[in-house]
Amino acid sequence: MSDRQPAPVPRDLPAGLSWEAALRHVRSALEAAGIDDPVLDARLLVADALGTDAAGLLVRGEDAVDEAGRARLATHLRRRLAREPVGRILGTREFWGLPFRLSPATLEPRPDTETVVEAALARIPDRQAPLRLLDLGTGTGCILVALLSELPCSAGFGIDLSPEAAATARANARRNGVGERAAFLCGCWDAAVRGSFDLVMSNPPYIAEADLGRLAPEVVAYDPVLALDGGGDGLAAYRAILAALPRLLAPGGLAVLEIGWDQADALKALSGETELVVEAVERDLAGRDRAVVLRRRDA
Ligand code: GLN
Repeated sequence: MSDRQPAPVPRDLPAGLSWEAALRHVRSALEAAGIDDPVLDARLLVADALGTDAAGLLVRGEDAVDEAGRARLATHLRRRLAREPVGRILGTREFWGLPFRLSPATLEPRPDTETVVEAALARIPDRQAPLRLLDLGTGTGCILVALLSELPCSAGFGIDLSPEAAATARANARRNGVGERAAFLCGCWDAAVRGSFDLVMSNPPYIAEADLGRLAPEVVAYDPVLALDGGGDGLAAYRAILAALPRLLAPGGLAVLEIGWDQADALKALSGETELVVEAVERDLAGRDRAVVLRRRDA
């Protein structure tokens, strides 16, 4: 046994703390447990437990934490120390500046996925145009809802294999004011829809089976495996989507697909076997390949 013991993790929350002291306590508990972003996580957990926001935490730092707040915060802290992501604990996650409710059947939206939204918007010359959108594997609905919030005359379908995800996405569309222009269906890829679309988006499952076990505990234990598992080589979903795209895309239509950082070449190779061509590869904020833009070769 090593004589260097790790610092003990302060799991319990003492009574009689001020808001400021509670924030410090949670932050050091998360730090000691090796959680990635202890400062931000502590702020979000404490603000939620105390029924305030970041600004409230700043101006009311001297206030005493009451018993109900202490109980809520103690539960939040225990869950985070068990590696449950903050978004799951709070039940909502922000994407494109909009709030999205999560359910056990949905992936937690990631900032990287905003690359898909940006890549699509950058190629739409007229945001007032009445476009038809399709989001395959919609999860929380984040991609479709974000785009509809920017394209006031457009409408779209979100499809998910999980009925629970489709219901969550529907609630998110309503909550974000685009419910009248979005319909959510349950089905395998495009099987539930007919017709052609100006813009098809997807953030499909793209993790190779063998890599699933290597993901962070927050991901393995809390994101649904259906949303992650891309089959033996991680490309199974892309094969299905590329096979469907030629009949889904309207003339001049565009597809934007999220990819893993090392999958751009594979997507180019796969699309080479179809009527589609990779027009661009877009990078995320960390500078890694994150999305491919596809069009029909003859478009
Ligand atoms: N479209 C959803 C998202 O981007 C869900 C994606 C998924 O489940 N793979 O978060």
